[in-house]
Amino acid sequence: MDQPAASAIAANLATIRARIADAAARAGRRAEDVTLVAVSKFHPAEAVEAALAAGQLAFGENRVQEAAAKFPSLRAAHPDLELHVIGGLQTNKARDAVRIADVIESLDRPKLADAIADAMAKEGRAPGLLVQVNTGDEAQKSGVARQDAAAFARDCMGRFGPKLRGLMCIPPAGEDPRPHFGFLADLAAKLGLPVVSMGMSADYLIAVELGATHVRVGSAIFGARG
Ligand SMILES: *Cc1c(COP(=O)(O)O)cnc(C)c1O
Repeated sequence: MDQPAASAIAANLATIRARIADAAARAGRRAEDVTLVAVSKFHPAEAVEAALAAGQLAFGENRVQEAAAKFPSLRAAHPDLELHVIGGLQTNKARDAVRIADVIESLDRPKLADAIADAMAKEGRAPGLLVQVNTGDEAQKSGVARQDAAAFARDCMGRFGPKLRGLMCIPPAGEDPRPHFGFLADLAAKLGLPVVSMGMSADYLIAVELGATHVRVGSAIFGARG
């Protein structure tokens, strides 16, 4: 698949940042309270380099193996790069995720919490953590069920302390995301958690209006994934 030129990636980032600032202003929020996470899955390291050259520092990958292949050398050259693991995580990948991630956004079950805690002890490294909530209660989707989300998040807050930073969701495709975003932001506020990760290429402006602190945008920056 053809990759967009570095100049196109830089232009896309500039457009998205400006739109985020507008949406934040409309909602009475500050643009600097919204972090753009550039989702670079399936795109090569050169695309990430182009984004870095345009000042982008936070990146998201949904497969640990792909992230582990792409990011360590980029991080060596860009020490303030921030890598978010955003995909459903198998327990046998928890150690690799803890080794490479700055934030794991897909903590969604007690067994994974066990595996992450164990990996943190072994690696001597503690990424930030978000609890992924399956706000649409979709059978095929990662995330803790809506009705169990508060209890699971509280357990994780007890276990991981301030490393448990917030909540993440992916609303059902083709549905109005607003009730899902509203649910997630309300739950984070109720729990006193500062981070709310929601919104992708199609709906990040709605997410900003409803309180996202992190939006995860892929194709609008890097182009289609083929
Ligand atoms: C791929 C992905 C995104 C980005 O999706 P786009 O529609 O390309 O912006 C965001 N979040 C997660 C969890 C993803 O897997």
